[in-house]
Amino acid sequence: MARILITGGAGFIGSHLCESFLKRGDEVICIDNFLTGSRENVASFSSHPRFTFIDQNVTQFIQVEESIDVVLHFASPASPVDYMELPIPTLKVGSLGTHNALGLAKAKKAIFFLASTSEVYGDPLVKPQREDYWGNVNPIGPRGVYDEAKRFAEAMTMAYHRYHGLDTRIVRIFNTYGPRMRMRDGRVVPNFITQAIKGEELTVYGKGTQTRSFLYIDDLVRGIQRLVESDYHLPVNLGNPHEMTVMDFAKEILKLTGSRSSIVFRPLPQDDPQVRQPDISKARELLGWEPQIPLDEGLRKTIQYFKERLQG
Ligand code: UDP
Repeated sequence: MARILITGGAGFIGSHLCESFLKRGDEVICIDNFLTGSRENVASFSSHPRFTFIDQNVTQFIQVEESIDVVLHFASPASPVDYMELPIPTLKVGSLGTHNALGLAKAKKAIFFLASTSEVYGDPLVKPQREDYWGNVNPIGPRGVYDEAKRFAEAMTMAYHRYHGLDTRIVRIFNTYGPRMRMRDGRVVPNFITQAIKGEELTVYGKGTQTRSFLYIDDLVRGIQRLVESDYHLPVNLGNPHEMTVMDFAKEILKLTGSRSSIVFRPLPQDDPQVRQPDISKARELLGWEPQIPLDEGLRKTIQYFKERLQG
């Protein structure tokens, strides 16, 4: 049994991590300030005897009395709409928040695990993206606040590893979806599903020729667990190599929801990556990991979740 601290533990990915560590038998300390997370996400396990919640912004000094074995730093706005509306909190949680979480891990002699992102590759000039690709990021564009904060967070994590000998991990998470995503989060999965259920038009940005690849949350959580247990400190991509256009994704949502909504075109946001596809060779070799849940199965569960939320 270990004691795990998760920043952003009331967020979409964070809350699934809290739950899976509780199931494994660990103690979980969750820190969140509900900027984009919610109490609802942790409601089903908040009274668990091995679960503690701290309402705090991690850009402030993190004070914890207990010993800690692993610090997972997942706090951050993560939807393009959010980080464009919250540019300074996004920069602060990726920089000051990462520094605080690293300091805590160092003081507790804990493993430090950073949630990084495929956004460090920016609008990539190579496909698929391998971990040794340095990316094509516009530092001063609207997405730069997230991309550069995460790039800084990776640099800071590697500095703590090299200079302080901290035991660190970095995961680069590609588009992940599933229950507990916020309905009005602005990302393509909640947007298309809620639009389709409500019979509203599906808003495809640009021509819909840009590509993404979608990973179901349970697959991501399994990959993160394995990476925590490994001893590998360089970045590892976790994502689904099955790439599709946004247009085809819209059609898939229409098919699975049985919706008769039509598709409309809206302007493409600035610096929206044209392609995104992970190379997951490293995760395969190091962790024996690859996605197992097919897109239609994961989407059905997610559609069910949104239907319940919309009806409730
Ligand atoms: N997108 C879209 N319609 C929407 C929301 C998003 O066409 O209502 C597109 C967006 O332009 C991007 C892709 O879907 O090309 C994925 O966007 P998302 O916001 O989910 O996150 P990103 O992958 O860009 O970080």
